[in-house]
Parts: sequence; structure tokens; C-alpha cells
Amino acid sequence: MTAAEPSSPSLLPADARAHLRARPLPPGGVRPAKDLCSDCGLCDTRWVAYVRQACAFLDQHMDAMERASHGRTRDLDDENELYFGVQRRMLTARLRAPIDGAQWTGIVSRIGVRALETGLVDAVLCVRASPEDRFTPVPILARTPEEVLAARVNKPTLSPNLKVLEELPDSGIRRLLAIGVGCQVQALRAVEATLPLEALYVLGLPCVDNVSREGLRTFLNSASRSPQTVVHYEFMQDFRIHFRHADGTEETVPFFGLDTPTLKDVFAPSCLSCFDYTNAGADLVVGYMGATFGRQWLVVRNPRGQRLLDLVESELDIAPVTSRGDRRQAVQQGIDAYDKAVRLPMWLAEVVGWFVERFGPRGLEYGKFSIDSHFTRNALWLRRNHGAMVERHLPAFAQRIIARYRLPSS
Ligand SMILES: Cc1cc2nc3c(=O)[nH]c(=O)nc-3n(C[C@H](O)[C@H](O)[C@H](O)COP(=O)(O)OP(=O)(O)OC[C@H]3O[C@@H](n4cnc5c(N)ncnc54)[C@H](O)[C@@H]3O)c2cc1C
Repeated sequence: MTAAEPSSPSLLPADARAHLRARPLPPGGVRPAKDLCSDCGLCDTRWVAYVRQACAFLDQHMDAMERASHGRTRDLDDENELYFGVQRRMLTARLRAPIDGAQWTGIVSRIGVRALETGLVDAVLCVRASPEDRFTPVPILARTPEEVLAARVNKPTLSPNLKVLEELPDSGIRRLLAIGVGCQVQALRAVEATLPLEALYVLGLPCVDNVSREGLRTFLNSASRSPQTVVHYEFMQDFRIHFRHADGTEETVPFFGLDTPTLKDVFAPSCLSCFDYTNAGADLVVGYMGATFGRQWLVVRNPRGQRLLDLVESELDIAPVTSRGDRRQAVQQGIDAYDKAVRLPMWLAEVVGWFVERFGPRGLEYGKFSIDSHFTRNALWLRRNHGAMVERHLPAFAQRIIARYRLPSS
């Protein structure tokens, strides 16, 4: 085994050979994190040997991860680092030639393609859709640009990305680009030094409110006029969900019109207890939350992240990040409305949506609105459902953000 040079010993498991003796857990059984399991796939591999240190829901290790991956933790006194994590650059961009069928303009897929074409890596860990169901994820180690492109677009369900690590030892892969959401990246970083790799690049997606396949069905049934024909959806910066249907038509629904009483329990418990919305351990993060409508938002966390961005920078239309508005009152009102499971009639939701879209938070302020809203909701959920975990599960940055708001008492 040629373990990658660890940047810091803090994430190294005590016995870094334990995976050589371990076996994946059998499919379908109870996982160590029990109901909080996000099905990241680690337990489907021999690296389950390190699950106690690696699982984001058993041991929150964000500070150690930031130190190991970026050489320092985020600066809690810098508002942008407090919210979006360690950064060298933050920008908005779109591919000048967008990739048809990608979630946004396809920056993630294009980086994956260029990483293979330039020989930076031997394979890209990404997620295809099952041939039977567009929303059922099938993680793969893609070896060709065509395979990366076939994995474009979100599968908005919990995805066992890390299960393909099990294929690494016999694969001949020495340099890997892993694309993934926060819980997958936290586990990956924890076992990084024990993987048979010479180089690992991590391209992170922000992620919030993910669901099981069954939960997705409930969500679509509740939110869309034609749930069976939805092929793509996104919660957008205009405070509306944009659904695309198989015939190419688009449907938009204001956030404020969602059936909150039905949807309160639809999100996975792992996501309701997650504070890694912006993927703290990734080298480069590509989302949309801090950008204006139609653009993507990128955070370069370290030199490896810049190397990934270099692969496509000449193909991007780049603009600086901007910020407008003041989110705080809207967040506080949202906390109270969510707690009471208020459901607005659709006409009122449209009116509220119209005002918020025109006068509400934009750019980075929208990103902070979303983080504030989800962190406060999740802190409350954790307190009510896993009270004993609250203290050790909340990273310092999340505690500081949550303390800015008044949470219901019980
Ligand atoms: C479940 C989920 C929730 C998200 N929530 C937010 C959010 O709240 N705010 C925000 O700014 N951005 C969010 N994103 C990221 C955003 O929606 C886009 O994925 C991102 O901007 C990249 O767009 P793109 O066009 O470059 O991607 P594409 O080029 O279309 O590539 C998408 C990539 O996502 C990977 N992928 C698909 N599904 C999954 C999955 N379930 N788990 C891991 N990887 C997957 C695929 O392998 C593919 O490589 C979320 C992504 C996911 C998967």
C-alpha cells in the first residue's frame, strides 16, 4: 500500500492497517450511526474499520479535517470564512459552453473530463443514475470523459459514493478525483492516508435537505403538479423550486408554498443533523448558493483546489461575488413559522415570494440566509431528537451562527 502523504497526523486512525483485516458490513443491516446514517458508502468497504473516527454522524471532526486538508481552520472572525469555510478565492462563474443536461452549467463535469484528459488523475469518483430510475444513484470510478459526462446532473438522494473505494486496491488507480457532498468527504478525508493512492483531489458540492428515494417520492408528490414526469429540480436563488419535466416544460413553486407539515419529516435524519452544508473538507467547492441567478458559485480552499479550477478557468465567464440585502429578520421569522409548521395558501406564498425575490437577500447574503435557516432548524432538531449529542456534534462555527438567533425553548 502506498499511502498518500498525510498533511497532518490528526486524522490518521490509531491503527492505520486495520482496514487490511476488515470486511465490509453486509448490505441492508443496521449501520453504526443507526438512524443518522447518510449511507455515504464507507461501511460498504473494508475502511469501515475506521468508522468511529470517520463517520460524520458518530464523530464530528471538522476542525481536524480543515487543518489536515487546508493547513488551518477557518477564521471565525471573518464573516465569509465563518459561513463558507477556509478559502483562498471565492468567485461566480458559468461555462461559456454549458453542458447540455448538467445540473447548472456543468462546471463539475467539465473539471472531471479535463482531469482525465490532462492526465491529472486516472479516475473520477462520480455518480451515474440507475438505468431503471433517473433518481437512484450508482457510484462509479469513471475512467473516460464519456463516463464522467454520463454522470452529470444531481441524483437528489442519499448516495453511497464511497462504496467504490472497495474497488481501488485492484484497480491500478493511483490518482483520483472524488466528487461528493459533505458527509462523503468527511469520511473520505478521515481515511485518506490509508487509501492506496498517490494523489487525491476532492471536488465538493454543497448539500442540504437530501432524502432517501422514498422521501424523494413524498417530496415530489407534495410539491409538483406532475411528480412522475420530474427529471430535474433545484431550490433556486429566486426562492422558488424549479422543476423540469420530461417534455422540457418548467414548473416553479415558491418555497413559502411548500406543505411544511408533510415535509417536516421527509428529509433524512442525517441531513437534519448536518452542519457541513458548504463542504468544509473539499479542495474546491462548486455550488450556486452564493451566486446571482443563473451563475455557479466557487470556493477555492487550497492549492489543489486551484489546480482543479486551472483545468477549466479559460472556459469560464467569471465574475466577482456580490452581496445584497439583510437576511436576519427573514431568518428569525422563518424559524418561528417552521416550528409552528405554518402552511401559507398558494396565493399568499406567491405574494411573499414576489416581495422576497425583489427585495430579499442576494448573492452571498442569500447563501448566508440559507445557512442560517438550515443550521438553526438542524440545531433545534438535534436538541429535540438527540439532545445528548448537541454539545459534541456542533462545530464552533455553527455554534457561533446559531447563537445569533432566538430558538424556541423546547
Ligand atoms: C443532493 C444535493 C444537494 C445540493 N444542494 C445544494 C445547495 O443547497 N446549494 C448549493 O449551492 N448547491 C447544492 N448542490 C450542488 C448543485 O446542485 C450542483 O450539483 C453544483 O452546482 C454542480 O453543478 P454542475 O452543473 O457543475 O454539475 P454537473 O456537471 O451536472 O455534475 C453533477 C455532479 O454531481 C454528482 N452527484 C450527483 N448526485 C450526487 C449525490 N447524490 N451525491 C454526490 N454526488 C452527486 C455527479 O457525480 C456529478 O459529477 C447540491 C447537490 C446535490 C447532489
